[in-house]
Amino acid sequence: MINKPLALLVVPPVYDFALFDLFIKPYSLLKLGKVLQDSGYRVDLVNALDYREQKSIERLGRPPRKSNGTGKFFRQITDKPGILRETVAGTPARDYFRYGIIEEVFAERLRAREPDVVLVSSGMTYWYPGVQEVVRIIRKSFPRVPVILGGIYASLCTEHAKKLSGADFVVSGSAFPRLVEILASLSLPVPRGGHHEEMLLYREISADAGVIRINRGCPFNCSYCASWHR
Ligand code: SF4
Repeated sequence: MINKPLALLVVPPVYDFALFDLFIKPYSLLKLGKVLQDSGYRVDLVNALDYREQKSIERLGRPPRKSNGTGKFFRQITDKPGILRETVAGTPARDYFRYGIIEEVFAERLRAREPDVVLVSSGMTYWYPGVQEVVRIIRKSFPRVPVILGGIYASLCTEHAKKLSGADFVVSGSAFPRLVEILASLSLPVPRGGHHEEMLLYREISADAGVIRINRGCPFNCSYCASWHR
């Protein structure tokens, strides 16, 4: 039905010195997507880490992948953030990369349809430039569309994310309860409570390898880890 609100799920590109896919899957984001779909939303996914994207293959070549679902992503050398420009004496300078589909295709996909709400995932804390890229593109095309950021960076560096990500809402820890409050405040349909363990399935995410969660959290609480931010 055309009058259903549209939720856009976004997996940002990664900025890092190295990245290898050992089953990197946006599990929590796709779980939230399923909850939203079951609550009357249309759901789109834009995945910067799609390693099958055709224009990126034409420009950068096909990333080497293994039949077990692991492998490399598209990558392009990019400028290092200021703090990483100086090399420690005696260590070789290393290239810094943007991992993901080419920017032009990524931006096209983000702008394809105006959403009612955008949910952005985040991984390692120092990958925040990828989050900033997403928010910058969304803001330019859809300045009034609310952007909600969750995930590991949002949980471990919440204040940094509030100041620098550009997102309207930064969710720390388990996203579901806060998501309900945020959607209610935006007068959007609110998901029902209960157990939400199913995730949306997309070929580009799950064709080579799937993901099953067999436990949640950890009995320890190392300060640098997001496991215990539940
Ligand atoms: S790093 Fe995280 S997962 Fe590992 S022991 Fe510490 S809290 Fe648990």
